[in-house]
Amino acid sequence: MSPITHFLASWAIAESCGKDRRERVWICLAGLAPDLDGLGIAVDVANDLLGRGVSQWYAVYHHFLFHGLFGALVVVAISRAAGVARWKALLLVFASFHLHLLCDLVGARGPAVYDIWVIYYFGPFTRAVTFYWMHQWPLNGWPNFLITLILLGWTLWRAVSRKMAGPMSAEQAPRRLGRVGRCFNLRPL
Ligand SMILES: [Zn+2]
Repeated sequence: MSPITHFLASWAIAESCGKDRRERVWICLAGLAPDLDGLGIAVDVANDLLGRGVSQWYAVYHHFLFHGLFGALVVVAISRAAGVARWKALLLVFASFHLHLLCDLVGARGPAVYDIWVIYYFGPFTRAVTFYWMHQWPLNGWPNFLITLILLGWTLWRAVSRKMAGPMSAEQAPRRLGRVGRCFNLRPL
């Protein structure tokens, strides 16, 4: 799926389960981390522009270096080193990473029916164990748009309800309602 969908999906986990800001950030980053192995595309483009010939870093390493158990454990270890201490939070980092893999498994296909992305779960050490789904839908397919819209709606709803949460005093009410009004560009008639 697209990085935006991955971001919204991992943010949904982070926002609903993370205890503090640090946990939320790392749970969210874990959902984006697998695609770090796609950065080889920058090397390919640079080689092409500089006339060094055609390289295949993206084709060879994307979905192989970091889209598996190795990548998940590296991200959990970095999160731990960065101060995420609770076991539950580290499990959520692990789960968020795997949610990315699941999303790629179901909805990351290329334009052709056979252009399916495969998960090499034990990459980069071996290509022996692979996961794939023959019905994987295209990256720009309607299910991905629908999922993105639902996640976006949920994120906005959480943001607004958080702002509205908590008891309102008589002094706070006009200010808070005014803030919501400004969100939707409402003006008094
Ligand atoms: Zn991915």
